[in-house]
Amino acid sequence: MPYDHRNTARRTLALALAATGCCAVLAGCGASSEAAPPATDKAGTTQGESGTQSRPPFASGSASAPAPASTPAPRGSRSLAGRTIVIDPGHNSGNFSHTSEINQTVNIGTNRKECDTTGTSTNAGYTEASFTFDVSHRLRDLLTARGAKVVLTHDGERPWGPCIDERARIGNAAHADAVVSVHADGSAVGHRGFHVILPAKVRAGAADTSEIVAPSRTLGERIVNTFARATGTSPANYIGSGTGLDVRDDLGGLNLSTVPKVFVECGNMRDPKDAQLLTSPTWRQKAAQGLADGIATYLKG
Ligand code: ZN
Repeated sequence: MPYDHRNTARRTLALALAATGCCAVLAGCGASSEAAPPATDKAGTTQGESGTQSRPPFASGSASAPAPASTPAPRGSRSLAGRTIVIDPGHNSGNFSHTSEINQTVNIGTNRKECDTTGTSTNAGYTEASFTFDVSHRLRDLLTARGAKVVLTHDGERPWGPCIDERARIGNAAHADAVVSVHADGSAVGHRGFHVILPAKVRAGAADTSEIVAPSRTLGERIVNTFARATGTSPANYIGSGTGLDVRDDLGGLNLSTVPKVFVECGNMRDPKDAQLLTSPTWRQKAAQGLADGIATYLKG
């Protein structure tokens, strides 16, 4: 989880400034590499407000009527040859034992923020960091099979981090055609489904997202469709008004990116039903497939 969920379903873009919901940044959520102070909503819960319990209808299928299998992307073909894709596994299992390091702040353009966060976990203790690593590896394998050059922002070689500003710089330095930061959220029970976080237009200090707002939205929209198809799950019922999309200006990993980038909150680790999916290797493979299909669709233009 990358965020701080304090969003309200109808939060507008402008309000996105203060909001956020992904574990990527959330305190409670444990996730995020970008922790924000835990928000308390009117229901007294942190992260996420009490959203509706019903799942919003989705274009290509709802939980009760999942769309057909994933889009038959050109597997086997080297359709992504010549493309560079950076995968950012949210958090790091080592962060739990390096709290002083990850609590140091870094400049994200608009302000300073913690270097990284521990991320969230299921009630049974399956950590978001374990989840993001697993899905990222599956995604890497799918993309490389299609001929892409894949760069991971970290792959077990670091005791903690990297910090959110460095995560962004890795994508920039690779001149990535697309960057996907993998997360899972840590919201309230009953909050279900996935959402994609898009960069808001930000120009402050070292942050200037003006060139990536539009392509990142296109990337995010492609992923929403393919992720729903591949996993049979619906866009979040607690953020994004059923669109599966959220926009934030408080994530350093997005603010500092100069290449198209999104965060994907694959589900809510704190909801028992979502947790059942997130802890399933079979489902995680579907999640990786959905991400790979979305990236491939985006890159095909
Ligand atoms: Zn996270």
